[in-house]
Amino acid sequence: MVDRLVNSEANARRIAMVESCFGSSGQPLAEQGRVLVGEGVLTKMCRKKPKARQFFLFNDILVYGNIVINKKKYNKQHVIPLEEVKLESLKDEGQYRNGWLIRTASKSFAVYAATATEKEEWMAHIEKCIEDLLRKSGKQPPSEHAAVWVPDNEAAICMHCKKTQFTVLNRRHHCRKCGSVVCGPCSSKRYILRGQSDKPLRVCLQCYDELNRERARPNLPPTANTTPVKTDAAGSGGDSSADEDSDDDDDRVNAEEKHDEPKFYGDSDKTEETNNHSSKDSTK
Ligand SMILES: [Zn+2]
Ligand SMILES: [Zn+2]
Repeated sequence: MVDRLVNSEANARRIAMVESCFGSSGQPLAEQGRVLVGEGVLTKMCRKKPKARQFFLFNDILVYGNIVINKKKYNKQHVIPLEEVKLESLKDEGQYRNGWLIRTASKSFAVYAATATEKEEWMAHIEKCIEDLLRKSGKQPPSEHAAVWVPDNEAAICMHCKKTQFTVLNRRHHCRKCGSVVCGPCSSKRYILRGQSDKPLRVCLQCYDELNRERARPNLPPTANTTPVKTDAAGSGGDSSADEDSDDDDDRVNAEEKHDEPKFYGDSDKTEETNNHSSKDSTK
């Protein structure tokens, strides 16, 4: 069904629309063979709290951004290659319902749909795109994924020493290996986690020990994915700004309003391209 859309004008028009909504804050999205499969608002778990984000599912990438003006203007564009994505359904828990994890080697996070049906639709469409992509490329999905960060407000004290209370001065840090919220002294070590960055990243003491133990094991393949890094003094300050989740700030819009259902193209009879098509379209 997606194939039928590849050369359609409706698809080209939709992609141009997405591009124009991101304006100069986004990258060009029109590409040979790329199809916009669906779009809609999902709630993304950010570092501080859940926030509404606009998502666009293409047949090869997942794009999301902050909503500046609903349906008109988005910014803070993120592009995730679907080949790297693995989904994991989440159980409903209190106010967090209809959620799943989007995991990649470099970044993992939870998103929530408005209803169980919408969750099903989103997950099915994303899975289908991933499946098609991997079948075509013959590639294997990545085996390692970045940790999902524990939201700040779920940890009043350090999850490692279980002593340090977080305050304005005792800031929260995130272990890049396990996602725990930990204090400065408990995350004074750095490690190179290849999937995420070539630079050393903050890890908690427990992960640091585990990584070192793994590394010391004799049968490890020569291209180990991780490298320990000498610690810089107390580990205070330093990279704390790197702890910020980049898309976590300033929402100018409160996207509560009324909920729009997600739109998925090409999987029903009501596709609009039957109307105004050109000669090019009639070949399929
Ligand atoms: Zn601690
Ligand atoms: Zn850790």
